[in-house]
Amino acid sequence: MIAENIERLQAEIPENVTLVAVTKYHDLADTKAVVAAGIKDLGESRVQDFLKKYEAMDHVNWHFIGHLQKNKVKQIIGKVYLIHSIDSLELLEIVNRESEKAGLVTDVLLQLNLAREETKYGFEKENFNRVLEKAMTYQAVRIKGLMAMGPHTENNQEIRNIFVELKQIYDKIKEHYHGDKLSMEVLSMGMTDDYKIAIEEGSNLVRIGRKIFSSEEI
Ligand SMILES: *Cc1c(COP(=O)(O)O)cnc(C)c1O
Repeated sequence: MIAENIERLQAEIPENVTLVAVTKYHDLADTKAVVAAGIKDLGESRVQDFLKKYEAMDHVNWHFIGHLQKNKVKQIIGKVYLIHSIDSLELLEIVNRESEKAGLVTDVLLQLNLAREETKYGFEKENFNRVLEKAMTYQAVRIKGLMAMGPHTENNQEIRNIFVELKQIYDKIKEHYHGDKLSMEVLSMGMTDDYKIAIEEGSNLVRIGRKIFSSEEI
C-alpha cells in the first residue's frame, strides 16, 4: 500500500519537486517501507521521534518540519539535513550557536505565518527584510529558502492566494539577496490536501504524510 501510494504520487509530481515523506506518528517498519519504495527524504516533527528513527536509519535526508523547542536544538544538530521550521530569530541564533560548537553549518528554511492562524508558528511578512538582514549575519547557518503552511479551509482560492503570496516573497528575496549565507533554493509548501495547488504555484518541495500511509485513495 505504501509503495503503491508513493508510486502514484511520484507519477504526479514534476521532477524538479522534491517529495518529502512525512513519517511522523508511523512506526519504524512503515518508515523503512517508505525508504524501500525509493524515497530518500523523510520528515519528522518531534525531536524524540526523530532521534529514535535516526538511530535506526541514518542514510536518509532527515527534514525537521515541526515547531522546534529551543532547549532541544542541540540534540538534532549534525543529524538533520534541513530544518524547515525556523520561526524566530531567537531559535535561529541557538541553531547557529550549537552548529558553531559542533563545528558545522546547518541548512535551514525560514517559516512564514501567512495564513495567520493562531496555531501556526512563523515570521510575519511585515518587517521580514529585517529578519533576513539579521539572519544573514549568522556564520554557522545557511538560509536555503522558505516554508509555509496553507490555511485550514476548504476554499481552494484562499489556499492558492497564500501560496501565490509566498512565491512572490520568495522570488523577491531571490532577486535581492544572494550570498554564501542566504540563497533561495527551496520553497517548501504543500501537504496532502493542498500539494497540487502548491505545485501549480511554484513549490519545489512538498511535505506529504497522510496520502502516503492511507489505505484509501485520498
Ligand atoms: C504533518 C505535517 C505535514 C504532512 O501533512 P499531511 O496532511 O499528513 O500530508 C506537512 N508539514 C508539516 C509541517 C506537518 O506538521
